[in-house]
Amino acid sequence: MTQITCAFCKGTGKDPFDLLSELATCQVCGGRSKFEVKEQAIKCAFCKGSGIYPRNARVTCTVCNGKGMVTVSTGGGSASGGKGATNKCPECKGTGAAKDSGLPCVKCGGKGVVSKR
Ligand SMILES: [Zn+2]
Ligand SMILES: [Zn+2]
Ligand SMILES: [Zn+2]
Repeated sequence: MTQITCAFCKGTGKDPFDLLSELATCQVCGGRSKFEVKEQAIKCAFCKGSGIYPRNARVTCTVCNGKGMVTVSTGGGSASGGKGATNKCPECKGTGAAKDSGLPCVKCGGKGVVSKR
């Protein structure tokens, strides 16, 4: 019996993507943060052991459409011009690329390892 740390939440037991809430438990390990595997487990090649479903790297950020910047309406005041401020996109941190899917790997179920056969 080998104990492995949940790869998806990195052993925190919390949802790493805050999809539901900051306090949501990890959907992969149910908050236990560890798994017990009977057989010898090997690193999942599909997610490279991260437990996270790999997203196509060419998918652009849906928040800024790949621009890396978002225009934030200043709102409220009737300041000169009414031009919004341009901020670095909070979703992709200015990279313009979509981040990880936030879903557990389909091959290993988010554990990051698969049993050796
Ligand atoms: Zn977990
Ligand atoms: Zn973005
Ligand atoms: Zn995997």
